[in-house]
Amino acid sequence: MSTVLPTLPLGRKNPLIGDSSSMTDQDSIKSSNITAVESRVTLQDRIKRSGHSGGVLWFTGLSGSGKSTLATELERRLFNIGYNVYVLDGDNVRHGLSSNLGFSPEDRTENIRRIGEVASLFTSAGFIVITAFISPYREDRERARAAASEDFHEVHVKADLSLCESRDPKGLYEKARRGEIPDFTGISAPYEAPQSPEFTIDTGKLDVEKSVTALAEYVAANFIQQQD
Ligand code: ADP
Repeated sequence: MSTVLPTLPLGRKNPLIGDSSSMTDQDSIKSSNITAVESRVTLQDRIKRSGHSGGVLWFTGLSGSGKSTLATELERRLFNIGYNVYVLDGDNVRHGLSSNLGFSPEDRTENIRRIGEVASLFTSAGFIVITAFISPYREDRERARAAASEDFHEVHVKADLSLCESRDPKGLYEKARRGEIPDFTGISAPYEAPQSPEFTIDTGKLDVEKSVTALAEYVAANFIQQQD
């Protein structure tokens, strides 16, 4: 790896402590007997060891737009060249961390709040975390952005509804059209597309290989690696 250190995000807040700029307002913290513990490993220490800064690549897009496919392919590509990288994927998280949540607007909001906080923790650990969630509401994504501070990159995985529906990799659109899935994004629930995402990948125009290459180039430009 090269010796160029990125502009270090040393001023970022400690997500274990939180701060008032986060939309997780203090009133939502239920206990008043909480004292934060400061880590004895600095962000700088972590960057020195891993060779790169951490951050969130927040994939958002319709079901079938390609979030999971691109997240896992990009994870493999980045891992192979030495990045600390980890994918948080919608279905996996819903089997564990968010297993008590459904798809009502309130539950979606809570799901994305949890992912935003977990992604922020991964970032503090020096990881590039790729999140693959429809995350249909702008406000929820903005809250996730606030949790991660300046290390947040919103990536719009873009494909028309008709294309997503023709792909229908999990047969969900067919079920939703039959009325078997309530609150299905794009059919019976809204999708609020990002207005100014840091990066857009149009999977209707690029195949998987080209999409992953474009994403890897974006990462290379924004998470500069250090070489010894
Ligand atoms: P999501 O996670 O957004 O619901 P998936 O990744 O599960 O979407 O499914 C996307 C489907 O579209 C897969 O079957 C994939 O092979 C196909 N596909 C076609 N072109 C692309 C592309 N450029 N990027 C990602 N997926 C693509």
